[in-house]
Amino acid sequence: MLPTPYYLIDKAKLRHNMEIMARLRAHSGAKTLLALKGFAAHALFDFMRPYMDGTTSSSLFELRLGHEKFGKESHAYSVAWGKEEIEEALVYADKIIFNSISQLQQFERQSRGCPRGLRLNPHISYSHFDLADPARPFSRLGESEAEKIEPYLDRISGFMLHYNCENDDFAAFDRQLGEIEARYSRLFAQVEWISLGGGLHFTGDNYPLDKFAGRLKHFAQSHGVQVYLEPGEAAVNNSATLETRVLDSFNNGKNIAILDASVEAHMLDLLIYRQQATILPNSGAHEIMLCGKSCLAGDIFGTFRFEKLLKTGDPVSLGNAAAYTMVKKNWFNGVAMPAIAVRELDGSIRLIRRFTYEDYRNSLS
Ligand SMILES: *Cc1c(COP(=O)(O)O)cnc(C)c1O
Repeated sequence: MLPTPYYLIDKAKLRHNMEIMARLRAHSGAKTLLALKGFAAHALFDFMRPYMDGTTSSSLFELRLGHEKFGKESHAYSVAWGKEEIEEALVYADKIIFNSISQLQQFERQSRGCPRGLRLNPHISYSHFDLADPARPFSRLGESEAEKIEPYLDRISGFMLHYNCENDDFAAFDRQLGEIEARYSRLFAQVEWISLGGGLHFTGDNYPLDKFAGRLKHFAQSHGVQVYLEPGEAAVNNSATLETRVLDSFNNGKNIAILDASVEAHMLDLLIYRQQATILPNSGAHEIMLCGKSCLAGDIFGTFRFEKLLKTGDPVSLGNAAAYTMVKKNWFNGVAMPAIAVRELDGSIRLIRRFTYEDYRNSLS
């Protein structure tokens, strides 16, 4: 048994998502790029590469990681490129996507040799969270007005739209895409590729994959474009856990168990989006509040049901630790950083990275 805490990436579960990915590509003709913002554990990239077409990025470092570790096609997007970044970005990029017309103008000369795209913001979106809603008021994410974009069409070969977040409703996707087509078909007719971004939950259990594939194929044919998708969450959904142990337990009016991990340091996404962790099966006679070991008063994973009271040394496995979890881990409180391990297809567990005091020390200076 490995010492806790550690993130455990399960290859069989990852392969399940990857096989759906491959089916979608085959049936729709769309290319899929892993959005590194959601998952960047590059030890898994060799395993994922055959099922996907490359990566997309939100910064120079993500772009470089995708180019160096994943290979295939690397899309370079950033909300705003700095002038000291652009030359290097163009070395790695197979396509560069600007967020605004002013960025396109600013880097027009340097980027001339690279296929260019522009982010289009249709001001329609599907998101359960205001924080992650690209169509929120005064959104800075992309250009919206067709008339404003039209004069620049000779400088770009495609558009990137990213307007969904955990959208598991195919009918809503279909309807919104129809509205977008109605508004921008004149622009779409003049480009070669369109990326519909990420945020589509197509690897989920009841998602109508065939209808989705058909819709993408129809979209590609109607506008004469290569379609891209940029899945982050959908690529790695449910394929990792955070494995922890109980350090202390007591009752202060509620049953409390303190784990050897921290929400703020190791599952920050839960805190930001005010969600509970995932504990399965979450049933039994005892209600227990699972807490982290940082000194943040609200370092709480959530309240769950267990068959038995937890005692010191008991293992606790927190689900859904792949997308947007590992990429956000941090050294708050100097809490020991979870190692990273992989459950191989034969069930064996392999440690791939351990973090030490020196890593903590060197993360600042
Ligand atoms: C975040 C993001 C993605 C990935 O979104 P998921 O919800 O993880 O699928 C893709 N493209 C862009 C531009 C993004 O900002």
